[in-house]
Amino acid sequence: MKNLKPRLFFVFLTLTLIPMVLFLMGIWRRSDTRLTQVLISGIAVLVCIAFSMALWVYTTILQPLEKLQEATRKIKEGDLDFTLDSDEDNEIGKLCQDFEEMRIRLKENQEEKIQYDQDSKELISNISHDLKTPITAIKGYVEGIMDGVASSPEKLDKYIRTIYNKANDMDRLIDELTFYTKIDTNKMPYNFKKISIDEFFHDCADEVGLDMEARNINFSFSSNVKPDVLVIADVEQLRRVVNNIISNSVKYMDKEKGSIHIELADDRDFIRVDIRDNGRGISNHDLPHIFDRFYRVDSSRNLSRGGSGIGLSIVKKIIEDHGGKVWARSKEGEGTEILFSLRKYQEGETVE
Ligand code: ADP
Repeated sequence: MKNLKPRLFFVFLTLTLIPMVLFLMGIWRRSDTRLTQVLISGIAVLVCIAFSMALWVYTTILQPLEKLQEATRKIKEGDLDFTLDSDEDNEIGKLCQDFEEMRIRLKENQEEKIQYDQDSKELISNISHDLKTPITAIKGYVEGIMDGVASSPEKLDKYIRTIYNKANDMDRLIDELTFYTKIDTNKMPYNFKKISIDEFFHDCADEVGLDMEARNINFSFSSNVKPDVLVIADVEQLRRVVNNIISNSVKYMDKEKGSIHIELADDRDFIRVDIRDNGRGISNHDLPHIFDRFYRVDSSRNLSRGGSGIGLSIVKKIIEDHGGKVWARSKEGEGTEILFSLRKYQEGETVE
């Protein structure tokens, strides 16, 4: 017998049949009415016990096992859209609950994989598109030079400069992509150190200040953080975060008198960094997506502003790998604020 149900039925029959046979034999041997009554009552009790036991075994063991079997079959066929309920507090109940947890994990993994595949496809299509644009331009200018269109030295110089800028765009895109792949697949070896966050930002502000002066953008920096407040951070990556945010402020600046301000604030166990500009701003519709990879407000996807759509997703990843959070506030036409928080170093903490 392969199934448990017939076995259970067999046990039930054995438990009821044996007393019944005994009863018949008793009646057959002598016709004692008192004995007959006792035997009938005994059999009735036994049948009840056998029936309750069989019912108990069926509901507590066989039914959940059947559900588990059905669930396993569905998983085998790749169907993870079901739930396996069990409130029982016994071994089988716990097995069902563990099984349900396993199904939820598998479902999450499956969804992650689908998302990853979709992202990879999007990545390939975006890279092809973003590389094609400057390559087409470079080809056009080179053909122009070959055909003698760049007749004067000024024209030739202009063509060569454009080719150089387009090649730079490609170089920057490939750099960002290489870095992103490393960071996305957790192959980025961080070099965490205890640093004075105020000192770090003062140095950063000096550098950014010089650059902004050259670009004729008003730059200011303020901090209420004491120099002895420490943060565990990878200096190089933190610099990349600041650079990415600032370069966006520059890229998307549409005012004649542009201004950028960095504010460092002490916020109990955290340090809050606020980088704000008076650029073109971001609409409420786009704001929730700017940290998504390859999200660009300008959907025409051209490299006119040198954007690849991964700058802020790199910022998000680096800050999250530092145990911090990043968010943004913006008003279209007025400006954008990118904020992030970093946890202060607590005495006794280990630097990984
Ligand atoms: P990109 O390389 O295209 O700049 P990012 O990930 O850095 O990609 O930014 C995503 C989008 O968010 C940008 O395309 C831009 O439209 C918008 N954005 C980011 N920073 C700013 C800012 N300071 N001002 C206006 N728009 C911004």
